[in-house]
Amino acid sequence: MTPNLVPSAYRGVAVARVRGPLTESGLRRFLLGREAYRRTRFLVVRDDGDRTALLRVVKESDEPLFSPIVSVEVLGPPGECAFVRAPEADTAVPSTMARIALSRAPGVRAVVVEGRYGHVSFIVDPEPLRLAVQEIVPPEPPKLLDQVRRLLEVAEDLPPIEPVADTVGFQALASRAPAARYLLPCGGSGVSVAGASTLYLDQRPEFQEWTLLGCARSREIHQWFYGMQAESVEICPRSRARDPRVPTLTKCCLLEDRIEQADGAVVVPWGATLEQVREALRIVARRWEPSWRPV
Ligand SMILES: [Zn+2]
Repeated sequence: MTPNLVPSAYRGVAVARVRGPLTESGLRRFLLGREAYRRTRFLVVRDDGDRTALLRVVKESDEPLFSPIVSVEVLGPPGECAFVRAPEADTAVPSTMARIALSRAPGVRAVVVEGRYGHVSFIVDPEPLRLAVQEIVPPEPPKLLDQVRRLLEVAEDLPPIEPVADTVGFQALASRAPAARYLLPCGGSGVSVAGASTLYLDQRPEFQEWTLLGCARSREIHQWFYGMQAESVEICPRSRARDPRVPTLTKCCLLEDRIEQADGAVVVPWGATLEQVREALRIVARRWEPSWRPV
């Protein structure tokens, strides 16, 4: 079965209470022939011992307001189904559903969540796409990772995605070329390197002997300002080594308004807007989860 089964936009999830312990045959006996509302497609059934089962039901017809249930498919039998209350969670967002399922009911196949507005939804076999997000720190959290997290909080139309930080610090980059003085791209980032003095390219300081911690664009600017190249350490996340099998989102100093796919990664501009990051996440989803569909 495909992982990350969630109901589609019109969820049609109803909750029913039954007395007595839930068993598969008992559930069928209880439900077959009973009337269900026109838009009900899934039933969360809870018993008085707070056990939960998740069912897909088919009705005789979807036309009248209510119609008898004619078939019952158990998506989550009582032993493999959890009910989680998470009042802060938007249950329409697959990434949120997967995060809550894995953190609050780890190892459980079918997780029903009662979230914001009292809405109830579910996820079966949560297995979010782990997306490596390549960035440099500081700032902490790095901008691209923070943008991805903020977008996933409201992404109703994307498969479950779990961003995984793949960051490198300026300190570590500096240690590749030990020097007494470093030139960094931008003073606003508040970056410093322990045991060395730091100057910032965007402040166009008087030329000194330094090692540039920068990207291709910084090297171009250095050439423009000083008429020569400095010794430098490449910091562009795009240039970092990566495993092409690992879904990766990265950024590049040389991209200004395009999103590219290259070297096993989706690449956004260095200063990508939220809208560009959203488009990049859509590309990630099409590329790595092309068959995912809500049911
Ligand atoms: Zn670059």
